[in-house]
Amino acid sequence: SLAGKTALITGSTSGIGLAYAKALAAEGANIVINGFGDAQAIEQERQALEQASGARALYSGHDLTKPAEIEAMMKEAADAFGGVDILINNAGMQYVSPIEEFPVEKWDLIIALNLTSAFHTSRLAVPYMKSKKWGRIIQTASAHSLTASPFKSAYVTAKHGLAGLTKTLALELATFGVTANCISPGYVWTPLVENQIPDTMKARNMTREQVMNDVLLAGQPTKQFVTVEQVAAMALFLCSDAAANITGANMSIDGGWTAQ
Ligand code: NAD
Repeated sequence: SLAGKTALITGSTSGIGLAYAKALAAEGANIVINGFGDAQAIEQERQALEQASGARALYSGHDLTKPAEIEAMMKEAADAFGGVDILINNAGMQYVSPIEEFPVEKWDLIIALNLTSAFHTSRLAVPYMKSKKWGRIIQTASAHSLTASPFKSAYVTAKHGLAGLTKTLALELATFGVTANCISPGYVWTPLVENQIPDTMKARNMTREQVMNDVLLAGQPTKQFVTVEQVAAMALFLCSDAAANITGANMSIDGGWTAQ
């Protein structure tokens, strides 16, 4: 059980982040959710998390590309719960373009959100974890933290950087009962992925099945999407005592993608 613990999950108003929030709430943790979206829908999710956990859930909608807003979010968590025990850096975005046309502001934005925000949340959460001699830092990295694809320079760079940050955190925190690990999914079935299908069908003159198998799952040997529940189950395991000696690791959940 995670009763009495507080988990802060960035980018948790949808997709993988929301699945983490649900899984950790089911174990009784206080939850801080973050991200953008429809205010009413977010409030419904927040209430559902409280019902599931029997604990409290707080929404902090700050923009994590801005360091001052990250500090504000961490302060809200500390004011409400006295700190953060489980930090999941999950907020992320993608942009696809050849490097010579890659918009400079998109590069800066992706590095800020997918990489630098994890530095800021970590530096602000670590003092609480050290003082309690317990903590878990989990990054949603990606198969792209281990291997590259063309036209995703900012994303691949940020995710490789996140893997390096995670190893460094693991070493610095090894004697404090605090672990730091990456979870690296391949293609996960989220609204983000599902919403690409109709446009890709049109652009490539393909059926839905062709888009899924020949485009999206081309590099995923199982030919199955990872589910958000499967990713969340790994996070739950990394929070358990059984995982106390897993640190600095990069846990692939990619249907064999990076085995190739
Ligand atoms: P998603 O778009 O469903 O979720 C992204 C979340 O981040 C949302 O809650 C969104 O509101 C939030 N967000 C976006 N910009 C933000 C900002 N500036 N400040 C704060 N929050 C912000 O996507 P997802 O598929 O659930 O992705 C979550 C993570 O998983 C990302 O880091 C992504 O790179 C990674 N990932 C996804 C896949 C996949 O196939 N879906 C595969 C590997 C890794």
